[in-house]
Amino acid sequence: MMQPRREFLKMALGVSATPVLGTPRRGQDARATPTGGRLPIRSTGSKIKSIETFTSGALSIVRVRTDSGQEGYGQIAPFNADISATVLHRMVAPKVLGKDPAALDAISDRCIEDNYKFPWSFICRALAGLDTALWDLHGKTAGKSVCELLGGRPRPLPVYGSSMSRDIKPVDEAARLARLRDEKGFRAFKIRVGKVCGHDEDQWPGRTEELVPTVRKAIGNEIALLADGNSCYTAPKAIEVGKMLGQNGVCHFEEPCPYWELEWTAQVAAALDVPVAGGEQDNDLAQWRRMIAMHAVDIVQPDICYVGGLTRALRVADMAAQAGLPSVPHSANLSLVTVFTLHLQGAIKNAGPHVEFSIEPTRWTDDLFEPALKVTDGKVPIPSGPGWGVTISKDWLAKAERQVTQKA
Ligand SMILES: [Mg+2]
Repeated sequence: MMQPRREFLKMALGVSATPVLGTPRRGQDARATPTGGRLPIRSTGSKIKSIETFTSGALSIVRVRTDSGQEGYGQIAPFNADISATVLHRMVAPKVLGKDPAALDAISDRCIEDNYKFPWSFICRALAGLDTALWDLHGKTAGKSVCELLGGRPRPLPVYGSSMSRDIKPVDEAARLARLRDEKGFRAFKIRVGKVCGHDEDQWPGRTEELVPTVRKAIGNEIALLADGNSCYTAPKAIEVGKMLGQNGVCHFEEPCPYWELEWTAQVAAALDVPVAGGEQDNDLAQWRRMIAMHAVDIVQPDICYVGGLTRALRVADMAAQAGLPSVPHSANLSLVTVFTLHLQGAIKNAGPHVEFSIEPTRWTDDLFEPALKVTDGKVPIPSGPGWGVTISKDWLAKAERQVTQKA
């Protein structure tokens, strides 16, 4: 039963099984293996000379410089960024100083493998800062945007307005989304159902059952509606909720079960017509391979900052492409992660229809970079300048705490 459903979804989601990074070499399958040789970056003979972090509140910006004067800016995963910055200087930087900045796959693998007693979360959060700074550096060196380096073209991309709120009443959420549809032209929204890691409980009794039809009625049937469970449900309850979502035309049911419960999630995906999405917290590429192989999700959602940077997010997108699945990365705040995601989605063939774009006011990302991301007619332009196409605010950097690790 599962295979015909998967084939149907591939057709419905409009995805063909084309590798993101060109044709795999002979003997190379959809594994968590290096993309080496297939990334569009060539060595210029320079070496990584210094790695700096600028940390303030939830954010830490990374600047990497080479011995030939190239530089690039990236971002560590937000939240507890001071801890991740310490990890970057103590556990990541010593592995890469003096290395060729073009060796993106080798750098990622070395940082993971040399820290194999401390796997995943903080190592990947720190590595993301370095990797995204290196991509910026390569773009600036080539005079191209990262999107163009990857074979894409800067242009406005459709975004979905992503609500982060569970404490909002259904009637207020519905009114807010309808207003944003009219003011900014959003053609898709995501709402929050259940409670975070909720053990089948709702934020308050009856909220989800009231929210979904109330929002659907307010925004109309032409607007795509996505729903995020944030690890709320057991499989039976997720199936029950998923059927209700299907009746209300929801096209994406995200993280229905605790994300580590792959078997539960696969059970839900097999039972529902609504496509199941997930993976935002997953940073172990072998776990990604299992998730895709066991059909736990129909839509993959790597977070470029959580997974360890663009290089590793490309590997996830590539595994998904080879399985015929769309990639809709997690980009749930308006820091650089949304900039990175726009470039990625503008380049890969299995990009889903919309990029996640937070509709919550977040002071902590204001004034971080320019030009600011703006929604017009439901789309946000991929910044078109070299690298990530944005400039980090000098004032922001001056106020942040600076740390540096450099080659002696
Ligand atoms: Mg989510």
